[in-house]
Amino acid sequence: MARDQYTFTNPVELYAEITPKKGHQPEPGLDADLDPKADLGEDTYRGTGRLKGRKALITGADSGIGAATAIAFAREGADVALSYLPAEEEDAARIAGIIEEAGVTALRLPGDLRSKDYCRDLVAKTVEGLGGLDILVNNGGKQVYSEDITTLDDDQFDDTFTTNVDAMFWITKAAVPHLVPGSTIINTTSIQAYSPSEFLVDYASTKATINAFTKALAQQLAPKGIRVNAVAPGPIWTPLQVTDGQPPEKLEEFGEDTPLGRMGQPAELAPAYVFLASPESSFVIGETLNVNGGKPTP
Ligand code: NAD
Ligand code: MG
Repeated sequence: MARDQYTFTNPVELYAEITPKKGHQPEPGLDADLDPKADLGEDTYRGTGRLKGRKALITGADSGIGAATAIAFAREGADVALSYLPAEEEDAARIAGIIEEAGVTALRLPGDLRSKDYCRDLVAKTVEGLGGLDILVNNGGKQVYSEDITTLDDDQFDDTFTTNVDAMFWITKAAVPHLVPGSTIINTTSIQAYSPSEFLVDYASTKATINAFTKALAQQLAPKGIRVNAVAPGPIWTPLQVTDGQPPEKLEEFGEDTPLGRMGQPAELAPAYVFLASPESSFVIGETLNVNGGKPTP
C-alpha cells in the first residue's frame, strides 16, 4: 500500500489525476461504468480495529459514498449488510468481495427503497443474517436535476422524497427496537441542505429535511444511548452525478467552486462515517459533519 488515509498530502493536489468528464448513464448508474473511475479507497483505506465486532447496515452500499463507507467499515472489523437496487448487482458483488477479503461478513440485500415492505424486511434480514445491528447508515438517494418547476415531474418529486426521506424513516423506525445502547445512526445529507442549486429544488428540500430529522431524532434517542448524526458531502464523483444529477454542461466543472478547487472522492467521505460510527465520537450527537472541500455552512 503506497499511500493510505494517513499519508501526509496536499489536499489541493490530491486526486489531480481524476478530473470530471461529461458522461451519461441511465439511473441508477454503475461505478463499473464511471469514467474516470472514482476512488472508493480500495487500495488506500487501512483499518485499525475501530469497529471490531460491530454490525452495520448501509443503504446505497454498492457504489459511491456508501461503497467507500462499506469498505472502510469492513476493514475496521464490522460485518456489513448492503442495500442497493437489483440493477446494481455487478457493483454490489465487487464491494461484497472486498468486504469478505477483510475477513468479515458481507450480506447482500437488493431491493427498492421506495417500498415500505422492502425497508422493513431489510432491517429484519440484517438482524437475522448478521446476528444483530448496531450501525445504521441511511445513504441511498435520488438526485435528478430539473430546471423549471412547471416541468418538474410530479412522480419525480414523489420518488425523490420517498427514496431520500420516507425510506430513511421506515428503516430507522424498524431498526430502533434492535439497537442496543452504544449503537449509532448516520444519515447522509448534503451541502444542498444549506446551499441549494436552482435546478435541485426537490432534492435539496429532501436534504434539509434529513438534517432536521437527524437533529430531532438525536435528542429523542440520546437518553437511550443511541447516537444519531449526519454527514453532509459536497461535490463527490459518483454515479449519482452522471445519471442526470447535474445538467450535462455543469459536469466538466463539477467541484471547481470549492475552496480546494476540486471535487471530492468517495474515499474522502468514509473516515467521517467511521468516526461517527465508532465509540470515539461518544459525545457527538445531532451533529452534521460537513465534508465538502471548504464550502461555508451554518
Ligand atoms: P451513488 O449513485 O453511488 O449512490 C446512491 C445509491 O442510492 C445507489 O447506488 C443506489 O443503490 C441507491 N438508490 C437510489 N435509489 C434507490 C432505490 N429506489 N432503491 C434502493 N436503492 C436506491 O451516489 P452517491 O453520490 O454516493 O450517493 C450517496 C448519498 O450521498 C446520497 O444520499 C446522495 O444524495 C448523497 N450526496 C452525494 C453527493 C455527491 O456529490 N455525490 C453530495 C451530497 C450528498
Ligand atoms: Mg449505485
